[in-house]
Amino acid sequence: MRILAVFLALLACAAAPLNAQLALTHANVVDVERGVVLTDRTVLISGNRITAVGTGVRVPAGARVRDARGKYVIPGLWDMHVHTSREGRALHFWPLFLAHGVTGVREMGSYLDTLRHWRTVARRPGSGAPRIVWSSPMLDGVPTSWVHGYGVPDSARARAAVDTMKRLGFDALKVYDRLPRDAYLSIAAEAKRRGLPFAGHVPQAVTPIEASDAGQRSIEHVTDALHLACTPRGAELLDAFMKARGSLGRDADSTRAALGRLRSAVGAGPVAGACRPTFARMVANGTWLTPTLAVTRGQVPTDSLAADPRLRFVPPSLAVRWRSGHASAQPDDVEFGRRMEANSWRLVSLAHRAGVGILAGTDASDEPYVFAGSGVHDELALLVRAGLSPMEALRAATLNPARYLGAADSLGTVAPGRLADLVILDANPLADIRNTTRIHAVVANGRLMDAAERARLLARAAAEAARAGTAPPARR
Ligand SMILES: [Zn+2]
Repeated sequence: MRILAVFLALLACAAAPLNAQLALTHANVVDVERGVVLTDRTVLISGNRITAVGTGVRVPAGARVRDARGKYVIPGLWDMHVHTSREGRALHFWPLFLAHGVTGVREMGSYLDTLRHWRTVARRPGSGAPRIVWSSPMLDGVPTSWVHGYGVPDSARARAAVDTMKRLGFDALKVYDRLPRDAYLSIAAEAKRRGLPFAGHVPQAVTPIEASDAGQRSIEHVTDALHLACTPRGAELLDAFMKARGSLGRDADSTRAALGRLRSAVGAGPVAGACRPTFARMVANGTWLTPTLAVTRGQVPTDSLAADPRLRFVPPSLAVRWRSGHASAQPDDVEFGRRMEANSWRLVSLAHRAGVGILAGTDASDEPYVFAGSGVHDELALLVRAGLSPMEALRAATLNPARYLGAADSLGTVAPGRLADLVILDANPLADIRNTTRIHAVVANGRLMDAAERARLLARAAAEAARAGTAPPARR
């Protein structure tokens, strides 16, 4: 069933396939599956498929030939956590994705109507959308955390919600923070029965181990729940805080003291031994982790973020909000944020070394200083900062998403039979992961986008962003 869902998503890619043939000659091909670079290869593309990759490939007469000597060809990148649909932001997000070699994204939730609208638009020929895997609105408790959430207060409504999302043709379900335990477990059971994957946050009412055992396909963000799971006596300290806060005749001092103990234990950073049971279970169940380190980074004010030239791709009212958020941050919070950022890197490193599959995702939406498209390249650099090798980071945006989607026979590698989604780089990304930003050209669904076309996409994105409005934060 999962394969079927992905197949539908693939059909949805609206970059018009061409019947023409394209040959990239003398290319260095990065084989992310075997972890090697194949030198002096010809990559032959017919329509929207790669038909040959090799040294003795005959280039058919009439094929368009691009000399890729000195270039590095990697699979098209995926951003596995985006919110493209609210406030018309698809109009600037989509060109930003393609211009930066992000040929596929996993949409992680918005208003029901908004998602359905943009899904329809994306599927129109010539829409300029990347491949999009569509998750449902965030299934959440009542009241929902966000105004665009979909309230699921109990088991009966959980089953109804799964049925609704299945009928509306969503590829997956997004689960969220406030889901009550019984509603969450009913979603899990019903999703399994209906063959619909579910992914998202770990709701407060369950632990990461319980979420993994329930069949949640991916855990999004390095959340408090994960930090807590990696903290010695974490559950006990949380319990003590909850009791102090909830006790009758509670006294503010003991609540504050319990919170202080919890914060300092979590702030001390993840401990391998404490993480082990959670990561072992995630590995055994095949639960993926999408750390979205770009979000964590964007929350900590720095001069380089404030002066980032990519702010021209951000709606002006949103950029003002980001700036004022950073300007008003208290020194203590900045210090704690910095510490938690380092802790998140360490947690990702421990998860990765334990064998947890990592997916590259940014949470591109209106999160501070998370940039659509180019943010994936930030995320790759952050994954390397956390301890992944450049090859492992590349996999997190190529092969791993393909495997996650059950579509490794169509996506995620530069190999015959795969869809022709490629990024052609001017320099070796394995020597320095930042070289993924040195894009020479992008091939999306068989269509070559060279420097001139990418410049046009960026100009369009900047113009659309300048026009775009933004709503105030919609958290309840
Ligand atoms: Zn998100």
